[in-house]
This record gives sequence, structure tokens and C-alpha cells, in this order.
Amino acid sequence: MEQDEAKKRIEQLTDVINRYNHAYYTLSKPEISDQAYDLLLKELELLEKSFPALAHPNSPARRVGGEVTREFRQVTHRVPMLSLSNTYSKEEVEEWEARIHKLIGDQMEYVCELKFDGVAIGLTYQQGLLYQAVTRGDGVQGDDVTINIRTIHNIPLQLGGVGYPDFLEIRGEVFMPRVSFRQLNKTRLEEGEEPFANPRNAASGSLKMLDSAEVAKRRLDCFLYYLPGTDLPFKTHYESLQAAKSWGFPISAYIVRCSSIHEIFDFIREVDEVRKTLPFDIDGVVIKVNDLAQQEELGQTAKSPRWAIAYKFKAEQAETILKSVDFQVGRTGTVTPVANLQPVLLAGTVVKRATLHNADIMAALDIRLGDTIYVEKGGEIIPKITGVKLEARPSGTFPVSFPTVCPECNTPLVRNEGESAWYCPNHSGCPPQIKGKLEHFISRRAMNIETLGEGKIGMLYDSNLVRNAADLYGLQPGDLLGLEKVYRDPDTGKERKVSFQAKTVENILSGIQLSRSVPFDRLLFALGIRFVGETVARKLAFHFHSIDALMQADTEELTEVEEVGDKIANSVTEYFSQPEYLDLIHRLKEAGLNVSMSSETVVKKGTVLEGKSIVVSGVFQHHSREDLKRMIEEYGGKNTGSISLRTSFVLAGENMGHEKKKKAESLGIPLLSETEFLKLLHED
Ligand code: NAD
Repeated sequence: MEQDEAKKRIEQLTDVINRYNHAYYTLSKPEISDQAYDLLLKELELLEKSFPALAHPNSPARRVGGEVTREFRQVTHRVPMLSLSNTYSKEEVEEWEARIHKLIGDQMEYVCELKFDGVAIGLTYQQGLLYQAVTRGDGVQGDDVTINIRTIHNIPLQLGGVGYPDFLEIRGEVFMPRVSFRQLNKTRLEEGEEPFANPRNAASGSLKMLDSAEVAKRRLDCFLYYLPGTDLPFKTHYESLQAAKSWGFPISAYIVRCSSIHEIFDFIREVDEVRKTLPFDIDGVVIKVNDLAQQEELGQTAKSPRWAIAYKFKAEQAETILKSVDFQVGRTGTVTPVANLQPVLLAGTVVKRATLHNADIMAALDIRLGDTIYVEKGGEIIPKITGVKLEARPSGTFPVSFPTVCPECNTPLVRNEGESAWYCPNHSGCPPQIKGKLEHFISRRAMNIETLGEGKIGMLYDSNLVRNAADLYGLQPGDLLGLEKVYRDPDTGKERKVSFQAKTVENILSGIQLSRSVPFDRLLFALGIRFVGETVARKLAFHFHSIDALMQADTEELTEVEEVGDKIANSVTEYFSQPEYLDLIHRLKEAGLNVSMSSETVVKKGTVLEGKSIVVSGVFQHHSREDLKRMIEEYGGKNTGSISLRTSFVLAGENMGHEKKKKAESLGIPLLSETEFLKLLHED
């Protein structure tokens, strides 16, 4: 390759890898498979090796891939937190071992461990007490996520046993067990939120949440695998892990010492056999030189230690043929391309359909009917197409085009800036959107109208009785009595007719009646505003207290609420700017639903904060922001979003926004710490 060509390709690769890094590490939403990513990175590494003059010092091939985030305090690592050099090839593991052997020239001993697929974490302990937990970040600096790490049940807050040093750092991996992951994605799908692609991304997304009470619900887990530093009283890595175990740290049982490449391969084979049965994801095996003095002698590159290598397992993939593509319209109008495949066995189940995500991904794959495609199980729930086998492409095919109008109602599709999805904007006239919204409205965690279900909603819709949630509250017995539906019996294949009898009608109406007392936060969730899941709805309800206040809030006020960023705020303001939804809210109010937090929700505990306007900002040690806001109300105070002359004080946690702090100081508004605030309440 010529120098010019290489330069162009290096720039191109640097750009895409940086973009993929951001999507993976910061947004927790990978855009391509790990294997495809690793191929690009390897190509860049090789090019930079062949053309050293073109290698940029900041090249992603030379740096740890993550970033620090704005929301947490940044901490510089005492010893940099590096990545691992990795390979999918056993030959490369063999070469690595041979190189080490030659360099050290000794009888070698290695430690083989599982490569947990989660997020790296560095924990420090002082006098045996957990002091700080920091993410890897960019390798030099990470985010201080101590408050979230405290919610992980198996991380000791206090060490046991004997002999631990006064100051101790230990590193490991926080991950999400498969059961927690399945549960989380199920909830997210029910709430109309995008599921996480895999447990790793779910773990990393969870660790970055600002509300530790929410993190606690995610049921993360942890294994520790490394004590950094040269001042340790151990000769080997293995010894250090045994000591760590005796102090109460969770250390995996799958750790073996090996003295030959054959033993290393035996372990890899063994792990490959059992990995599907483990309760958590691993993506490979890590092989480390055991002797700490030898580790030091081998040293490290800017990106990874020379004394360790990761052998990664290829993701399970199957090949099959693309037969057709459906375009499904969801309740929020999003149009999702779904591939119909020739059925194929993958990781124990038959896969017939796979998501193609959106128009961009479809175009990038350049997918065509009749193509042989590769399918992988992303996060075990929704299989995805990761590539096309170009050499098997039949001739004369054309790319599958994304529709320009809604496949259900013919309305021209729209796309919001910065988003990859196309939407059907016909919210009030597009049948799957209307039915989807109604199904969401009645669902268990929303209004919980158990006496209605998907089938009955379909009947009410088909008979023109119900077009939106408010219509449910106007239903009369006479509308429902005798309502009929014809369906095909799946057992006999014969057509059957059902019709609503008096008892069913009574049940339906009493279920609807009961739902009038559902609290405001659940009603808000039931409205199905895009990106407003159960948690966000609760936070908005507690913050604004009534639908009227919420409707008046602008983007800035909305983003004051924990977990609410621009994307959610814009979606909320957009929702309340639409006449049809304003009319819906008006009718729901008239139907007597709870459009504000009822006074019983706040139990008065004291009066010490009466007449005070308080702004809560930052991250707190003992309580979530939501809890603190509730306490403010329980003691008679009022929560406000932005600092003004009327603010009595700011309850300031860690990482309070710089701008806010400056404003409070310039207006002479006192800042109270969490401890001072709690003391104040106790004085009541
Ligand atoms: P990595 O995940 O390949 O390996 C390093 C990490 O392994 C360490 O930081 C540590 O967190 C972890 N680890 C797990 N078990 C361990 C053990 N027993 N001992 C030591 N470390 C252990 O490297 P990375 O730098 O975190 O990420 C790079 C990889 O991530 C890439 O190779 C790629 O596969 C993936 N990635 C994918 C995308 C994408 O878009 N799909 C983007 C960026 C990175």
C-alpha cells in the first residue's frame, strides 16, 4: 500500500473506531459486533506498524478505549488501568507464550482466569473500609462511582480476615448476571424503552446512573481479579488472589495455574464447554504470568500489560437466508425493520426472525432478499443480523429499501434530527399505534386494568368504540353487551364467534372503574410518552406533583429532574404541544383520574422546612435525590428546580453542577451538605 493510501485509510479507521468507542463505552449502545470492531482495530494496528510515521500518538490503537463522563467526580488512578491485548486465535496465544518464554527464559507459570464481560472497576480500602470505587475511564482517570458500587451486595464494605494492608487497591469486573439482565430488558421493552444489547452494556449503563437506589434494583454482581502495585507482600498473582479471598473479596472459583501451553489450552477448552451454563456472560479467558517480578520485568505498552493476553471466544453465529423484511410500527410510531429468515438453529433455539434495527443499519449492511446472512444472539433476547456473506449473493438483487410511507396507514414517515429511527407521525390515526398505546395504558404496571387485554382492546378498537384511553371511561354497558368477535380456533382451525355477555361487561367496567384511583405517577407512565418509562414517570410526578405543572415545564426545568436529559425533555414538551394529547388529558381529568399527587402520598413528619424553597443538586451518600425531595416535602418544604433569590438553600451533594454552584454563591444562597440537612430534620 502506498503512503497516501495508508494515510487515508488510517484516518478513516481512526474516525470510525472513535465513533464506535463512544457508542460502546459512553452511550453503552454498541453499533457493531465486538468481532467486527476487533477486525477494524487490528487493521489500524497493522497499518500503524507498517507506517510508523503516520501513527498518531492519540490513535485508538494506542489508547484505552473509554472516556470519563461529566456526571461523576474524576479520579486519577494511582496505577493506570489498562486494557488487555486480545486475540480470537489460538496460534496467537501460542506465539505470545513462546515470546514470553524466550524473554524470561525460565520455567514459566501462568494463571488462567475467566474474562468477565462487564465493566472494570478499581476499589480502594483504607484501614479495611471501602473508600472509593473508580471506573477505568480513559485508563488514566476514571469516574468516582463509589455510591453506586456500595449497592452491589458482594463487594465488602469492610474487610475481614487478617493481614490486609492499611491501604489496599483491588481491581475487578462489575457485571450483570443473566437473570437480572433478562428481567431488566423485559421491563424496558414493556415500557417502550430500547433494550440493552447485552449484559455488559447494561452493567456499564447501570453504573453510570445518578440514582443509586435505581442501581440497587439492577442487581449487579462483581468478581475481583487483580491487586495492582509493586509494594505488595506477595510473590505471585495467585497468592495475592488467595489472600484477597480470605479478606472477603469475591474471587472466582475458575482460576488455575498452568505451566505449559497445553494446560492453557485445556483450561480454554473446559471453559468453552461450561460457559453457557454460567449464570453470567464471559467473553474469553485471560492468561497471566503468575510471578510478580516477571510481570514487572515484562512491563506494559501504553494500552496493555505484556504479561497478560485475553483469548476471546467468537460470538455464536449462524448462517441463513433472508426471505423478506417486515416493517413493524410500534406504539410510539417507530418503524422497525424485521427480517424473516429461513429458520436456523442458534444457541439452542430456532431463529426465524431478527431485527435489523433501523434504516441506517439496513443501509450499512446493504442487505438484499435472498442474501445469506450471519445472525447472532445479541443479549440473548432479540437475534440480530451482523453481516452478509457477499460471496454467496445471488446476481441481480437490489438493496431492500426502507419505506417512505407508513406500511399501516400510508402517512409519510418522518425522522427527528440526530435519531436513527423513522416514525409514523399519525399518532391518532395509525391502527397499531392506537392499539399499542391502549395496550400499554391498561398494562399491569400502568393502569392495571386486568379485565381488559390485547384481544378485548382489539374488539373495542375494531367496533369503533375506543380510539384513545379517555374513551374507555365513557363506555356504557349497552355499548359492550353482545359485542362480537370472530376468530380461528388454533386447535381445530374452525371459525368461532365470541360475544360479550352481561358478566363480562360488568367485569370490564368494574376494572375500568377501579383504575380511576391509580396514582398520578402510574397514570403518567400509562400515557406512553416516548422515553418516559416507569422510573422517569415517577421522578417527573414527584418533582412536578401535577400534570398541570408538568405541562407548563420547559426543557430546562425538565432536565433538572434526575435521569431526565434533553432527549426525554424534548419528548415530553413535544407530547404536551399536541392538541390531541391536550384534549386527551382534559378528558382524563374530567373522568376523575388522578392528575396530581394526592396529599396522602406525602405524610407530614415535621414543620422545620415550612416556607422554605429548596434546590437539590448532585449525588448523595446515603439517600437518593428522590428520597431527599420527599423528605423536604414531609417536613413542609418546597422543591424547586432552579436557583433564584427565593431559594432558601441548596442541598448540595457530590458533583454539584459548576454553573449552579457559581449561581448559588453569587446570590449568597447557602449550600447544605447531606449530613447538615439530615441534622436539621432531626432538630424538628
Ligand atoms: P477487553 O474487554 O477486550 O479486555 C480488557 C478488560 O477485560 C479489562 O479492562 C477488564 O475490564 C476485563 N477483564 C475481565 N476479566 C478479567 C480478568 N480476569 N483479568 C483482567 N481483566 C479482565 O478490552 P476493553 O479495552 O475493555 O475493550 C476492548 C474490547 O471491547 C474490544 O476488543 C471489543 O471487543 C470491545 N469493543 C467493542 C466495541 C463495539 O462497538 N462493539 C467498541 C469498543 C470496544
